Amino acid sequence: MAKKQFKAESKRLLDLMINSIYTQKEIFLRELISNASDASDKSYYNALCNNTGLDRERYEIRLAADKTLRTLTITDHGIGMNKEDLEKNLGTIAESGSFKFKNNAEEKEGVDIIGQFGVGFYSAFMVADEVTVTSRKEGEETAWKWTSTGSDGYTVTEAEKAEPGTEIVLHIKENTETDSYDEYLEQYRLADLVKKYSDFIKYPITMEMTKSRKKEDSEEYEQYTELETLNSRVPLWKKSKKELKEEDYKAFYHAQRYGYDEPVKTIHTNVEGSLTYTALMFIPGTVPYDFYTKDFKKGLALYSNGVMIMEKCADLLPDYFGFVQGLVDSADLSLNISRELLQQDHQLKAISKNLTKTIQKELAGLCEKDRETYSKFFDAFGRTLKYGLYSDWGMNKETLQDLIMFHSSKEEAYTTLKEYVDRMPEEQKYIYYGTGETKEKIRSMPAAEGVLAKGFELLYFTEDVDEFAVKMLQTYKEKEFKNITDADLGFEQEAPSDEHAELMGKLKEALGDKVADVKASTRLVSHPACISTRGAISIEMEKVLSAGPDGQNAKAEKVLEINTGHPLFAQLQAADEEQLKTYAEVLYNQALLIEGLPIEDPVAYANAIWKLLEK
Ligand code: ADP
Repeated sequence: MAKKQFKAESKRLLDLMINSIYTQKEIFLRELISNASDASDKSYYNALCNNTGLDRERYEIRLAADKTLRTLTITDHGIGMNKEDLEKNLGTIAESGSFKFKNNAEEKEGVDIIGQFGVGFYSAFMVADEVTVTSRKEGEETAWKWTSTGSDGYTVTEAEKAEPGTEIVLHIKENTETDSYDEYLEQYRLADLVKKYSDFIKYPITMEMTKSRKKEDSEEYEQYTELETLNSRVPLWKKSKKELKEEDYKAFYHAQRYGYDEPVKTIHTNVEGSLTYTALMFIPGTVPYDFYTKDFKKGLALYSNGVMIMEKCADLLPDYFGFVQGLVDSADLSLNISRELLQQDHQLKAISKNLTKTIQKELAGLCEKDRETYSKFFDAFGRTLKYGLYSDWGMNKETLQDLIMFHSSKEEAYTTLKEYVDRMPEEQKYIYYGTGETKEKIRSMPAAEGVLAKGFELLYFTEDVDEFAVKMLQTYKEKEFKNITDADLGFEQEAPSDEHAELMGKLKEALGDKVADVKASTRLVSHPACISTRGAISIEMEKVLSAGPDGQNAKAEKVLEINTGHPLFAQLQAADEEQLKTYAEVLYNQALLIEGLPIEDPVAYANAIWKLLEK
């Protein structure tokens, strides 16, 4: 019999499926089960309209694998297809006409499409070298058989079938060197796939499972088969919140392998209106082992009416909330790719925006009401939030500024920026922070002395990202941030006297370009000298930036500050020119060391120290 040819677009998609390098070949089962479920929906609806019974159990979807014949059969009792339906539905791609492959990127784009939305019936050809569909349409007597081995075309012939519905037989491909197909004939693998992708299909998905048991009055085992329903049928997120206990959510969290820890927060929301969706989201309490690597895939599972259409939809979450796990179910999303794709995109964006707000609100609430739990969360993911502030040029300020916390000189635990600002005395104009490896190191920095002596609170920035994040924030409640090593601390200090200008000038001369200035300090109390900076780049930023690709150009503009009240200063005043050079070298390098910066010329520094010791 002459083979009929697929429509051109379908043929290209088929080629793509047959030669698919897509790793998630397993999704074919989800696609076929979803089709069976849709067909059952249609029949169920007809039955509802005709009052011919409302029994959902009737719509059992049966799986059967035969290893000898290498077949996997999926049978449904749905609406079925007649000859025209078969030709139209399986000969063209869902009549969408929107499958425009770009010639050069054909394969790549195809892979993306499969990964994102699946492609329905054709995905069967990822695992099968021959597909036979026998179907009888409800209300008709004749059945039809559609067969195809792939892109060379298909045939439709008359067939026998006792009941309405559809039976799809996949002849599973032989294993190749790189791909295993045998697994799609293993009943436990199939059962797992149903659990993973189709657990919440409303009709029972069943399979005869081979099991073994002890024979009666004997030590011997015997094999037997039992028909099992593989899916739980009720989506957890569709149950009413009142019905659900914390344990239920936790069990789900673990079953979905969102994490092995306990989530610190579960968010279950139903939204109705122009956008209708249910979201079930979890905020983990610990960092997944691969979270800070590129292997980590952020995103939420995307469901359309209980059917999973995407395992990780990255677009649903902004990067800074990438740690959130869970799913979104929206009846507004259609299961398969189609001309609605763009619209869906638009909808996804709207949902994502909503979810971001929801997560923000929940986290802010947790931060306010349960600081202990929030701190645990923040220890794990605070970095991500701070990176969120830093990236996108501070666009996420509103969302994130009240979620970040720091340690400070006034609080044992973390403090929020709001709490800091609320504590600020009237005369304090800036939010002060110091940067360093540890709280202790920052506290003991010479530059901290002046601010602390003033009674002002000091935030401890101990992570690389901290200062960069607040640079993007610029202000919090109209208060600017100020690094304690900034040459201008922004509070009334006794004016540095001109008295020592000449001496400072000589020190500057001795140090040359290493410093922008040498001046009498008004901030130092017990230390003889320190380094402060002018301009946009602080010392901590210099450290971070110099580790990056443009390192050489990113230098802080340094000022050496001398404590004129320190006993050592008398020696400076008494020094001759030669000695003064030595002192300048030593003071400058000591100040660098205290800041954790490398000594630029270790030999010169060591020589200077030796000179002092010789005396
Ligand atoms: P989509 O489901 O997006 O329409 P598919 O390629 O999966 O795309 O299926 C094409 C069409 O074939 C379906 O819309 C449906 O009309 C028909 N179809 C597929 N499987 C079945 C089935 N098991 N029973 C009845 N009709 C089916």
